[in-house]
Amino acid sequence: MRIGINCGHTATGPGSGAVGILNESLETRAVGYALMEKLRGLGHTVIDCTNDLASSVSSNLSQITALANAQKLDAFYSIHFNAGGGRGSEVYTMGGEDVLNTARILESLSQLGFPNRGIKEGANLYVIRRTAAPAALIEVCFVDNEEDASLYQRLGPEQIADAICRGITGTNPEEKEELTMTQYQELKAAIDALTQKVQELNTPMIYNYIDENMPEWARASVKKMVDKGILKGDENGLGLTESDLRHIVWNDRAGLYD
Ligand SMILES: [Zn+2]
Repeated sequence: MRIGINCGHTATGPGSGAVGILNESLETRAVGYALMEKLRGLGHTVIDCTNDLASSVSSNLSQITALANAQKLDAFYSIHFNAGGGRGSEVYTMGGEDVLNTARILESLSQLGFPNRGIKEGANLYVIRRTAAPAALIEVCFVDNEEDASLYQRLGPEQIADAICRGITGTNPEEKEELTMTQYQELKAAIDALTQKVQELNTPMIYNYIDENMPEWARASVKKMVDKGILKGDENGLGLTESDLRHIVWNDRAGLYD
């Protein structure tokens, strides 16, 4: 299958996710990227439909669907965490129907201890409505609920991704065999890189102005984005992290701001 996975909202700034005991933007990436690996391990083609940086919520949503609709997908899943009272997992689909094995995904999450809140009508959600492929939006659990957050933290994103993968495919993700030394080193390097990414998200070096403090390699691209009105700061400045800067430069090189 060709499966599109979207790690919820932007990583930071406009369009970013809910923050409670857990940070939605961060955890959707932890779960989503683990899920992508597991699906690939089972032989599926996975397209990452995550948009890290946007000037607004609507720009974030349209960039996500553009990523999803850039090729033919058999299925599109958007990973989210809920907020605002309640606990447990729920899924949104068109008409609230059990498509894309959503009932099995919820069952699989409830086996981990998250109450099953059911499949709900998602026709009013942009990514459900505007994605060409059949789509489902998964709310793993509530970021602002004590029990949900502590269960999530106890289990960790790998186990959540395992459960979602089992739900989607009906197959257990590959058992990890004993690691060779080389595999272990590779894994450790990957985990170190991810840890660094997480640290960067938690304690980002923030660039608010296009000045000598901002790395030179990023200034021209950021200025272009600001000049074109794609990027707007607030009274505190632009609020860009190192990873934002890298994305801006990549997108600029790809001609997105021309
Ligand atoms: Zn969300």
